[in-house]
Amino acid sequence: MTAYEPVIGLEVHAELETASKMFCACEVVDSTSARPNTAICPVCLGMPGVLPVVNRQAVEYGLMVGLALHCEIPAFNQFARKSYFYPDLPKGYQISQYEYPLAVNGWLEIDLPDGASRQIRIRRAHLEEDTGKLTHVDGHSLVDLNRAGVPLLEIVSEADIHSAEEAEAYARKLRAILQYLGVNSGDMSKGVLRFEANVSVRPVGSDELRTRTEIKNLNSIRSLARGVAYEIERQTAVWESGGAVQQATMGWDETRQVTVVQRVKESADDYRYFPEPDLPVLEISPEWVETVRAQLPELPDAKRDRYMNALGLTRYDASVLVAERAVAEYFEAALAAGGDPKQLANYITGDVFRQMNLEGREREEIGSLRLTPQALAQLVTLVQQGTINHGIAKRLLETLYAEGGDPAALVEQQGLAQVTDESVLAGAISAVLDENPDEVARYLAGEDKLIKFLMGKVMKALRGKGDAQIVQRLLADQLEARRV
Ligand code: ADP
Ligand code: MG
Ligand code: ZN
Repeated sequence: MTAYEPVIGLEVHAELETASKMFCACEVVDSTSARPNTAICPVCLGMPGVLPVVNRQAVEYGLMVGLALHCEIPAFNQFARKSYFYPDLPKGYQISQYEYPLAVNGWLEIDLPDGASRQIRIRRAHLEEDTGKLTHVDGHSLVDLNRAGVPLLEIVSEADIHSAEEAEAYARKLRAILQYLGVNSGDMSKGVLRFEANVSVRPVGSDELRTRTEIKNLNSIRSLARGVAYEIERQTAVWESGGAVQQATMGWDETRQVTVVQRVKESADDYRYFPEPDLPVLEISPEWVETVRAQLPELPDAKRDRYMNALGLTRYDASVLVAERAVAEYFEAALAAGGDPKQLANYITGDVFRQMNLEGREREEIGSLRLTPQALAQLVTLVQQGTINHGIAKRLLETLYAEGGDPAALVEQQGLAQVTDESVLAGAISAVLDENPDEVARYLAGEDKLIKFLMGKVMKALRGKGDAQIVQRLLADQLEARRV
């Protein structure tokens, strides 16, 4: 039987977080919470005779993304009308870009679960305007045009992606880059970032491009991965059974976890693209490009490399820390407060994430935890200075996570400081050995693993505060002393 491999290209629509809209002075408002139709004007309503004016900030944001994706920035780009009818598009056309996009021929490095990374080529990124929003209630459709005219950047990859995992990695990295650039919040639940996946499959080893379907309605990166995986399986089964995949736009049904056909795909011809007569060709001077390039912040890949090279973190830890801008900021704030980088990385990717998972919190919420980065840095330092041991630190972290507070003060108030006084430790050890004669005898008879049990008892007697290294040494000594 022929084996099939997936071929995937992603189209991403990212709203640009400018103050005003793409072609008018209307404010960009949160379209999930603002009162409907309060941020509108004749331009974004598409009244006859109005004239669009290009938003300079939107162009700069688009350039930032283009440069972050290693694209070429052509010397000029041009807006074009894409004609189609939809109730949330009163003009009857969308101003987009077609033949001459803002940015072309870039690439994005994705990080795969096995630790490898790969480049996915970016075909283009172009500017356009968002449409309004329809809400369907009780057989009526309500139109809100607050979102009409909000700047959008459409970013199109080449069909270089070959699994659902790679599609997910691409989405995560692109989302992180947009967040680092500060041009998009990445909040898919608000629809400010939308992924569409073009999926086909072909026999392994061939380089043909078979008929694809396009999946829309993907409300999260998880849905993107599931939708792509589903479509790969469905298409493979179609070809294997001797059928042929039909080109179509599919919707992802979140409740049933299946793709469903929405409509048969339009071609570019149907849109009757033509140059937007109301806007001049946009010239992008090399100086402008260099000015924007100079303003780019440190991006995830560069940050990861710096964490590895300058701070000595493993590639895995560094990748996890940079994957969300908020996490990297938290880590760097803790670092600035004097914490040891490796210890901070361990606590953040271990205990802190575990607590957040228990609460069902997203990692990007890390900045709003009661456990501040400064407190975490102090906790780590208290362990390194030997003031408290690891076990106590883990318990203290849970308290700080739940209630906040100052680690040093809590150690003081609750008497959590590590016990290092050898006479105290030796006393606790001999008491435990006296109380557990059987285990002592079995240990001395060769059951080595019982030292763990005895160690546990001693630490418990010391309410977790013993200096583990000293306890270990004294315990071994006392056991040897009883070997007669
Ligand atoms: P359109 O503009 O009609 O959506 P494009 O040809 O511009 O289509 O491609 C859009 C996306 O679909 C790109 O990411 C491209 O790589 C991808 N794509 C094109 N053909 C295929 C195919 N046969 N299988 C998978 N992806 C494809
Ligand atoms: Mg498309
Ligand atoms: Zn307007």
